[in-house]
Amino acid sequence: MAEINVAALLAPPDILNCKRVLCVQPHPDDNEIGMGGVIYVLARSGCELHYLTVTNGDQGNLNPNAAPEETAAVRHLGASRFHFLPHGDGTLNDVLALSREIAEVIRSVQPEAIFCPDPWLPYEVHWDHIITGRAAANAFHLCGHMKCLRAIGYYFTASPNTVVDITDAFERKLIVHIFTREYGRRSYITSPGGASPGHRVRRGLFQPLSILEFDGFSTRGELHHIEGPIIAQPLSEIPFDIVKSTIALFLSELLYRLIKEGEADPGLYDFVEGSITTLDGLDSSVAANFHLWFLVQLTHYLGYSPQDNYAEGHALDYRAGLYISSDELPHTLLMAPREAKLFYELTHATPAQLPDFALAREQRTTLLTALIDLYGFHTEAIYSVNSLRILSEIF
Ligand SMILES: [Zn+2]
Repeated sequence: MAEINVAALLAPPDILNCKRVLCVQPHPDDNEIGMGGVIYVLARSGCELHYLTVTNGDQGNLNPNAAPEETAAVRHLGASRFHFLPHGDGTLNDVLALSREIAEVIRSVQPEAIFCPDPWLPYEVHWDHIITGRAAANAFHLCGHMKCLRAIGYYFTASPNTVVDITDAFERKLIVHIFTREYGRRSYITSPGGASPGHRVRRGLFQPLSILEFDGFSTRGELHHIEGPIIAQPLSEIPFDIVKSTIALFLSELLYRLIKEGEADPGLYDFVEGSITTLDGLDSSVAANFHLWFLVQLTHYLGYSPQDNYAEGHALDYRAGLYISSDELPHTLLMAPREAKLFYELTHATPAQLPDFALAREQRTTLLTALIDLYGFHTEAIYSVNSLRILSEIF
């Protein structure tokens, strides 16, 4: 009797042999974050990589040329064809309609595999990711008759069945996002173990919140290359202290999500650089409140901060940008009096005063939730900050 090899029957399709794939992303950077190494490996094996971006990653109308640097960086990684759907960030709600749009792209691209975020990730809260993942899955089903199409792969998944070794990708290229005083936020490309030994850049330079100094940058095509980066101010504690490194990771992701490429903002830059050195030197016992202080202070630079009219017992009406008597207006865009008081006090506190804020875990959580609501009123981008989840679990 012939033996049936169940494992072989159930083996996931070999994605590394694909000659053409379509990577579907809800927002402009999900593919790199979720599967950047795999994209690099696939591109090096000669695979034709198509990107389908479902929303513009910002509210408002789609402009496919909104982030040419990003596209150039992604092109460098290996993606070569770009497709866009005209949806606004945070506006997705119709799985079936979106699946028909994705299916149309699949029919024109004729990929062997498609990739998208796993919409069934436990505790996935980002609606765009859930809708896009489900729509891509349904589009895969709609295109089931196509001979070429063999696989759908989910990134950002809790149950991987395929693991790709991307060590090689890490050693060759880094796309780094740097916030500079002169040029605002920019993406740069660098080769940590590059061909010319004189220009070897240590990977350790690009830890979250590293403060760098560099001679300048050269621009080849649309990409900026860093010349001779060095650590300007070594961080002595952030890389080694679990609380501080968690906060650093959160701050760097927060800034990445909220600060768009382009305009210089020296005031914001000085605040961020000062905050990093402060966090590094802060007493560990009070570091757990640092992100709350930072979020409160940052509202000032982003134009979200309210008028300074706090009085005892007042709530914060962040739609109007005012503190108001809490029985005046019981609408939902309100920070409750207890959190509004903390918000006001943190607005006027320096990091040296953080020891005066003895917050219980529950207070930290409710204040963080209130701050996310306030940010969410101004920008959907706050909901893409994945490390928020880690923060609320640890602190
Ligand atoms: Zn996303």
